[in-house]
Amino acid sequence: MTELSPHLRQATPVVAVRGEGVYLYGEDGRRFLDFTAGIGVTSTGHCHPRVVQAAQEQVATLIHGQYTTVLHQPLRRLVAKLGEVLPAELDSLFFTNSGSEAVEAAMRLARQATGRPNILVCHGGFHGRTVAAASMTTSGTRFRSGFSPLMSGVVVTPFPTAFRYGWDEETATRFALRELDYVLQTISAPNDTAAVIVEPVLGEGGYVPATEGFLRGLRERADRHGFLLILDEVQTGVGRTGRFWGHEHFDVVPDILVTAKGLASGFPLSGIAAPERLMRLAWPGSQGGTYGANAVACAAAVATLDVVRDEGLVANAEVMGKRLRAGLEAVAAGNPRIGDVRGLGLMQACEFVTEEGEPDPEAAARVQRAAVDEGLLLLLCGAWNHIVRMIPALVVDEEAIDEGLRAWTAAVAAGAPTP
Ligand code: PMP
Repeated sequence: MTELSPHLRQATPVVAVRGEGVYLYGEDGRRFLDFTAGIGVTSTGHCHPRVVQAAQEQVATLIHGQYTTVLHQPLRRLVAKLGEVLPAELDSLFFTNSGSEAVEAAMRLARQATGRPNILVCHGGFHGRTVAAASMTTSGTRFRSGFSPLMSGVVVTPFPTAFRYGWDEETATRFALRELDYVLQTISAPNDTAAVIVEPVLGEGGYVPATEGFLRGLRERADRHGFLLILDEVQTGVGRTGRFWGHEHFDVVPDILVTAKGLASGFPLSGIAAPERLMRLAWPGSQGGTYGANAVACAAAVATLDVVRDEGLVANAEVMGKRLRAGLEAVAAGNPRIGDVRGLGLMQACEFVTEEGEPDPEAAARVQRAAVDEGLLLLLCGAWNHIVRMIPALVVDEEAIDEGLRAWTAAVAAGAPTP
């Protein structure tokens, strides 16, 4: 009898048969409040009627119009629509299927455009599971060990992870930029450095927002030394943080922006955006792929962008994110097991620590399991899987946030009670 790989274990015991908005329904009909959103993918909620309609119409019209063979209308529409939300400079697009693939496309472009070999990555970053993306990933050895040799030319530089260092954000930012200068002086000379890649908010690495000073510092060094700034907005894009792009919090524009996840409400679609004069420097033949910009995925993405605009979902993410954050802080205030609450918009997390202040993955796992019993689906993240994250769909309303907070309060009481 065939089985799933034993390594494909689910974070919850739920067998999902149906999804609607912020809810998933199990085989036994039980309803779960889904604060995982397919790892931040179902931006408009499960099966938003307008996304469903767009996909259904597209399935009946043209499923696959391979995009280096023929152009198709959903792709044309998507390119135009993205122009409404991207920084004006980033006017050239290349579409792929997954976040990892788009990250690799950004890396290839950076190397080809600059003629330089090295990619600087920020410690704690997650960029994907394919070999090059895994080589750039430093959020946990589980993503990068056992299949070496990894891609060469990756150099790690600190991220201002204030809570882990035990510093305030300003001190952590100063440290991270000083170390970056040291890295450029001692390991990867500017002339060997093609790009620095960073997430506006570390995702798998523990939901740590970057600081404005850090991202501006990266931008300044990239400009000074002639390397590129790549922002991996795979998880932070499409409204997730309460701005359309995560980088809008920091007033920093990248040379290459990587997008995926929330873009098509669950259909596999990713891509990179860059200025046309930069995109032109990619070598002929380096961009393409069988499934990139699949017609159904593009139609779903167009509908997603329409829904995000028409329903004011970016503003909703900001308001609901604040409500969620306030509730999480109230629970944490009475409980020393929750060492930190942080995030931006609808990307919030609680870090569990032992009495000694060390990462406490057991407590996080107990709370996550207890939450399922309370009808709330959550995921873990962080190097030790000791951080519980909440990433509800952007359509979440006050009632659902409050329902989630009630379940969270009960789950924390059961899994990591105040001593
Ligand atoms: N970059 C970031 C910031 C991500 O969060 C992820 C996925 N969690 C990826 C890249 C990789 O995306 P995918 O799993 O679609 O390859």
